[in-house]
Amino acid sequence: MNYPEFDPLPQKIAEKVTPGLGLKRWIDLVLHLPARYQDEATLSTYFDLVDNAKASLVGTLLASEIIERPRRQLVAKLSVDGGDIQLRWLHFYPGQQSKLVEGSLVKVTGATRKTRYGWEIIHPKMLFNPNPNELIGSITRIKNTDLLEEANVSPYEASRGGNGENTQDAALLATTAEPSQAKLTPVYPTVSGVKQTDFARWLKQAPAECFIDLLPASWWPHFPLPRWPEAVSTLHGEASPETEEALNDRTHSAWQRIKFEELLAQQLALKQARKIRQDTCAASLGKQPNAAYKAVLAGLPFQLTKAQHAALQELIADMSKTQPMQRLLQGDVGSGKTVVAALACAQAVGAGFQAAFMAPTEILAEQHYSKLAPLFASVGIRCEQLIGATSKKEKKRICEALLLGEIDIVMGTHALIEESVQFKQLGLVIIDEQHRFGVEQRLALLKAKEEQAVPHQLMMTATPIPRTLAQTFLSDLDVSSLNEKPPGRQPILTKLLSQKRRTELYKSLHVELLAGKQVYWVCPLIEESETLQLQAAEQTYAELCEALPGLGIGLLHGRLSAQEKAKIMQQFTNKELQLLVSTTVIEVGVDVPNATLMVIEHAERFGLAQLHQLRGRVGRGSEASVCILLFGDPLSWTGKQRLKAMKESNDGFWLAEKDLEIRGPGELLGKRQSGIPMLRYTDPLQEKDLVKLSRRYAAQVDLETEPWAQRLISRWFGETAWWLS
Ligand code: ADP
Ligand code: MG
Repeated sequence: MNYPEFDPLPQKIAEKVTPGLGLKRWIDLVLHLPARYQDEATLSTYFDLVDNAKASLVGTLLASEIIERPRRQLVAKLSVDGGDIQLRWLHFYPGQQSKLVEGSLVKVTGATRKTRYGWEIIHPKMLFNPNPNELIGSITRIKNTDLLEEANVSPYEASRGGNGENTQDAALLATTAEPSQAKLTPVYPTVSGVKQTDFARWLKQAPAECFIDLLPASWWPHFPLPRWPEAVSTLHGEASPETEEALNDRTHSAWQRIKFEELLAQQLALKQARKIRQDTCAASLGKQPNAAYKAVLAGLPFQLTKAQHAALQELIADMSKTQPMQRLLQGDVGSGKTVVAALACAQAVGAGFQAAFMAPTEILAEQHYSKLAPLFASVGIRCEQLIGATSKKEKKRICEALLLGEIDIVMGTHALIEESVQFKQLGLVIIDEQHRFGVEQRLALLKAKEEQAVPHQLMMTATPIPRTLAQTFLSDLDVSSLNEKPPGRQPILTKLLSQKRRTELYKSLHVELLAGKQVYWVCPLIEESETLQLQAAEQTYAELCEALPGLGIGLLHGRLSAQEKAKIMQQFTNKELQLLVSTTVIEVGVDVPNATLMVIEHAERFGLAQLHQLRGRVGRGSEASVCILLFGDPLSWTGKQRLKAMKESNDGFWLAEKDLEIRGPGELLGKRQSGIPMLRYTDPLQEKDLVKLSRRYAAQVDLETEPWAQRLISRWFGETAWWLS
C-alpha cells in the first residue's frame, strides 16, 4: 500500500520530532493534535503549563539572587497558583536585581521549560503591577470554566495582595470587559528544540492526502459529525474565542469526529485481526482428550474444579480447530490456572506436537518446572527447563533436542524467545502472567517457520481486564474464566495497620512463628531506585533478625542469582526458613501453601492489582490466612481507596473494576498491559455513545471490498496494527 500520507517525514523534521514525540510519518504529524487552545491574552495557570510553549502568568515574586555557577546569572522565584516557577536571566544589567522586589505582583511572558527542578522561563518579559485589564483574560476564563473557587487563589488573590482590590471588583471587571478580539492559538505537546510555530509551518508542507475524508460517500446523508478536512483544520487552526471551552474540553464536534475515527479504526483493526486469524492455519490437536492428557489428569493429586474442567473443554475445542487459538485464561490468584495449562500441554504432546510454557520470572519458571516436571515425567512426557541461568552448554543441548523433537515441553522465561530456540513442531504456546510481557515478546514465540502452521496460544492472567473495558476491546480475544477456587480454601482476612505499630506486630509475629506458621514479609516498593529498594529490604531483614532471634529468616531480592533465589525458595518450601523477607520479586505466581501470613510494608505505595497478586501468595492451603497491610501516614486519597478496597474484597474481578474506577483506564490500557492499541484521544468509558456509533458503522464495513478501511487503520495505527494478527 502506497499512500503519500504514510511517507516518512523529511529527515530535517524527523530528527526533531521522532525521538521525543514518536512522530514518523506525515499523517502522524497531522494526528498530533493540540493539547489545548490559548487566547493570547489569556493567562495560564500553573497546572496547564506545557513544555516549550509560550505562556503568560501572573504571580508573586519571591526571593531573587545572583549565582555564579555554572555561570553568572540572575534567578528569581515566582509563585503562581501555589507552585513555583524559576525565572532566569543569563544576561542582565547591574541593578536589575533590585527591581525584583519580593512580594510584588508581576505578569511574565515567555517560553516555559520543564527542567529537572521544575518549571522555568528564561529571559521572561516582565510587567510589574499589571493593571486590571491585563488580568481580564484570566478572569473571563475563570467565569467560563466555573472554576471560581480554585482559580481565585491564583492571579486574583495575588492582585488583591498587591493592589488592594477585591472579588467584587473582579466580577464587575469581567462583566464590563470588552470581549477580547484575540484568536485562539493551538498549543501542542512538544519537546525541547521544537517551537509551537514549527507545527503550523510543517503542517503546510504535509501532503494533501492527509486531509482527505476516507469514509465512504454513502454514509454522508445521515452522518452526524463534520467531515475530516473540516475537523482537522478546525483543530489545527486558529479559532474564535467562543469555541475555547468546547475545544479545550474536547466536546467540540471536530473533536467528536476525531474520536469517532479513532474508535472506528480500532474496531476495524480488531475485525481485520479476526479475519487474518481465520485465514491462518494451525494444526488440530484433536477433538477429544487424548491419552497423554488422560494420563496427566490421572496423575493429579486432586480433582479438577468445575471451572477448570469447563475451561479445559473450551481449550480443547479451540485447539481442535485448524485456526490458531488465541485465548485468555483469567482466574483469580490461586484459582489453579497452572494445572489447566499443564493439561493443555499434555493434549498438544499427545497429538504429536511440542509445547512451550513461558513465565515472566525465573522464580516462577523454576517453580512451575519443579512442580510439573515430575508429573510429566511420570507419564513419559519429556520436559526441560530453559532460563537465563541455564549454562551455555546445557542451552545448546536443549536447543538441539528441541529442533529434533526430542523434548516435548520446554518451560522457562524470556530465554525461550531467543533466536537460537527453534522447534521441530510447536503446537501450543502458554504465556503465564501475560500482563507482565510486552506484546513483541508474546508474539516472538508465535512466529513459526514459513512452511509451518502457527501454534495455538493460551495466555493466563490473574489481573483481569475489567468487564467494562473487555466489552469494548477484547472482541478479538476469547476468554475463559476460572470463577471458583479449589475446595477448602479459606478467605484471606486482610487487616490494615499503621506503620507506627510495627513493634507490636513483631511481638505477635513471634508467637505465630514459634507456633510453626510461615510468613512472607514484603518490603516497600521504591520505584525510583532498585538500589534504595534493596537497602530498605536489607535494613528490614536486619531489624527482623534482631526482633525475632532464633528463627529462620531469609532475604529474597532481585539482585540474587537465579540459583540463590531458587535455593532460598527451596528452604522456605522445606520449612527451614519460617520468615521470608522479600522485595516484590515474589509478586507473581509463587506457591508455598504452608505460608499463611503476609505482611506488606508501605502497602499504600502499591497498585491494587499488585497488592492483590501479593496477597494471593497466602491462602493457598486449607489453613486460614491473614494479610496485614502496613501503611505510612499520611495516606493519599487514592492510597486510602486502594487499601479500603483490599480490606473489603478478595475478588480479583471486583478489584479490577475498582482499580479502573480509582485510576482511570489510561494506565490499565497501556499497550504493554493489554496489547490493545492505545487510544490517543478517546476515553471509551466517557464516550459510550461514540463507541456505539463506531461499532454500528464498523459492522457494515466489508474489509475485502472496501480498501479505504485498511487505509484508515494505517492512518491511526500504522505499523502497530500488525501485532493484532
Ligand atoms: P494460579 O491460578 O494463581 O496460577 P496455581 O495454579 O498456582 O494458581 O494453583 C494454586 C494452588 O492450588 C496450587 O498449589 C495447585 O496445586 C492447587 N490446585 C490447583 N487446582 C486444584 C484443585 N482442583 N484442587 C485442589 N488444589 C488445586
Ligand atoms: Mg499462576
